[in-house]
Amino acid sequence: MRVTLVATYELGRQPFGLASPAAWLREAGIHVTTIDLSREPFRPAAFDTDLVAFHLPMHTATRLAVPVIRRVQALYPTATLCCYGLYAQLNEPVLRDLGVEHVLGGEFEQALVEVATADGGVAAGRSAHGDLPRLRFRVPERRGLPSLARYASLRTATGDCRVVGYTEASRGCKHRCRHCPVVPVYEGRFRAVPRDVVLADVRAQVEAGARHITFGDPDFFNGIGHAVAIVEACASEFPGLSYDVTIKVEHLRRHDGELTTLRDTGCLFVVTAVESIDDAVLSRLDKGHTRADVEAVVDRCRQIGLTLAPTFIPFTPWTTLAGYHELLRTIDALDLVEQVAPIQLTLRLLIQRGSRLLELEEQHLGVTLDPFDARRLVYPWRHPDSRVDRLQEMVTEVVGRRLTASRSAVFDELLALASERVGAPVAPRPAGARDRATVAYLNEPWYC
Ligand code: SF4
Repeated sequence: MRVTLVATYELGRQPFGLASPAAWLREAGIHVTTIDLSREPFRPAAFDTDLVAFHLPMHTATRLAVPVIRRVQALYPTATLCCYGLYAQLNEPVLRDLGVEHVLGGEFEQALVEVATADGGVAAGRSAHGDLPRLRFRVPERRGLPSLARYASLRTATGDCRVVGYTEASRGCKHRCRHCPVVPVYEGRFRAVPRDVVLADVRAQVEAGARHITFGDPDFFNGIGHAVAIVEACASEFPGLSYDVTIKVEHLRRHDGELTTLRDTGCLFVVTAVESIDDAVLSRLDKGHTRADVEAVVDRCRQIGLTLAPTFIPFTPWTTLAGYHELLRTIDALDLVEQVAPIQLTLRLLIQRGSRLLELEEQHLGVTLDPFDARRLVYPWRHPDSRVDRLQEMVTEVVGRRLTASRSAVFDELLALASERVGAPVAPRPAGARDRATVAYLNEPWYC
């Protein structure tokens, strides 16, 4: 049995979603080829195997995979196709229509082994639904993947460039935010990866050159004791290794006492999904925090010297021109301009299959959704005020055109645009505001 594991895009990271199943499959005696199409060319020979399995952890990865699936089918019509990961489960009908036989969800490693080792070769078509096993996690196996140095790197505040590794200390999430793609798959559950497995994966990546680790858990503080034990063990074994994590505002508030632990163990920044500063929008998204919580967390992190990297969904059916202007003014007032990647100020709410947003009555959703678009993999929506959609197109154009400009310069242009739209004076920000020290960031800041 020969299996090819394929990644199309994992946010500029070496694909954990290939390394983890590769370990399981090789342990089962299966010959595994990995190919990361975000960093490697399409090599037809790499797909000439019995089972070709695509990892689909996110929306962009799924859209990029569709033409590759068609290409593999045309080249090797007898190959069995499988898709696995969050977006595989969410898009199962679309993938089945494409001819994908096996669709696996969030905890996929054991199921992949079963698909590949069934009597007579490949098992009959499997579906992910309802299936969330408790796995005995293996240490990911990164042999055959492009080196870490070929992936997104970290720029520190002093301009230093660090090779970045990626691991996960937990999967899934115990929360149920309405817009989140994790929710339809994990339904409020999460799984902790044993500490020795996480540390072994970090160790292997440090030996491969990593000087910074991204913990890609949907929320690092879902299991607070587990999270703290891991960062303390990392700091003790790998002095000087820095890291970043993603933690929701609610957890940053609740576990306020552990923020200094993050700082003292090498955390360079905490990504936090603020999404909106409008309490009515936050309530519709069921985020579990308010604008006041955001302000308190910003304050606390600044006090203790822990950098926040807030993310947003500025364009929703409930966004107004004044609301977008207010968001930019608030980011400026909270002195967060350098901490927000400009792409975050362009993002539009995606409503995917299985989204809890579909539970909202139309009057609460605020828009009539178009039928599901199998090409874009979303339910398209148009804002009732076309000027808001137009503003989103304009800010997206600015950010796309000014990819190499400073965050501050892009922000100024967006603020000027938004100010014009609401008839507010375009007051230049104070000169000092543009010269503040930059913060550490990964040079592929896309979250979707
Ligand atoms: S806390 Fe984050 S990962 Fe968890 S449901 Fe909310 S958005 Fe999703």
